[in-house]
Amino acid sequence: MNMKGKICIVTGAARGIGMAIAKRYVQDGAKVAIADLNLDEAKKTAAELTKMGPGEAMGIAMNVTDEVVVNAGVEEVAKAWGGIDVLVSNAGIQIVHKLEDFPFEDWKKLLSIHLDGAFLTTKACIPHMKTRGGGSVIYMGSVHSKEASPLKSAYVTAKHGLLGLARVVSKEGAEYGVRANVICPGFVKTPLVEKQIPEQAKELGISEEEVVNKIMLGDTVDQEFTTVEDVAELAWLFAAFPTNALTGQSMVVSHGWYMN
Ligand code: NAD
Repeated sequence: MNMKGKICIVTGAARGIGMAIAKRYVQDGAKVAIADLNLDEAKKTAAELTKMGPGEAMGIAMNVTDEVVVNAGVEEVAKAWGGIDVLVSNAGIQIVHKLEDFPFEDWKKLLSIHLDGAFLTTKACIPHMKTRGGGSVIYMGSVHSKEASPLKSAYVTAKHGLLGLARVVSKEGAEYGVRANVICPGFVKTPLVEKQIPEQAKELGISEEEVVNKIMLGDTVDQEFTTVEDVAELAWLFAAFPTNALTGQSMVVSHGWYMN
């Protein structure tokens, strides 16, 4: 199994988990578009990955909630490299509040980035995958695709929704060789998580240490954070896997938090 020459789009890949996935793919010879809100950071990441090789990367501006921008970005990549083989819909944010205090605008914003983003990027990529005889769509879910936590009504709802979307894409895509999977990480120390530590401590009236040890790592088997490299390795497996055997499935990568 390898990804040599595969043409990939990873959303939200200027940093964090998306960047690690892009790096893993480039290390295996793939061409990867780093599609991110932050164009400067996307270009910087792409230049670093291209320098590392043996694959290459390009940075493109993409707000995954904007249909016109998503379509233009996907076309730009397909035109530059000749198609699309792999989509990793990874861009995401976190907003924490108790449900009764959750501003409706924040609910809509979070659902739009996670769910509209997954829908729009998938819709734009599928025709290109069909032309190339198949492809792989990977959604960045979470343990919160399967489990709930207080303060995370919007996030848990969005991440559960991605399981449904992946199952539909795998059924509709089967005849064209288009596969879909969901990766479900536990807590990974990225800016998205760093930001939540003081926020959750304040909302729950506990210390930051308690947020880390009890809430984030309390249900792991070894009190360890999952790493961006752990998640990237799974993203490589789903993208490089040579048959449809894994389509429609989700996989938890979390040091034992939520075993299913
Ligand atoms: P991060 O905040 O480090 O990176 C997110 C990236 O997404 C940023 O580069 C940001 O610019 C980009 N982005 C945000 N909104 C966007 C938009 N509208 N369009 C395009 N790009 C946008 O976050 P991360 O921790 O790397 O998270 C990546 C994904 O992994 C998210 O979907 C998140 O829900 C999921 N996840 C993270 C963890 C964790 O513990 N960090 C655990 C499970 C799942």
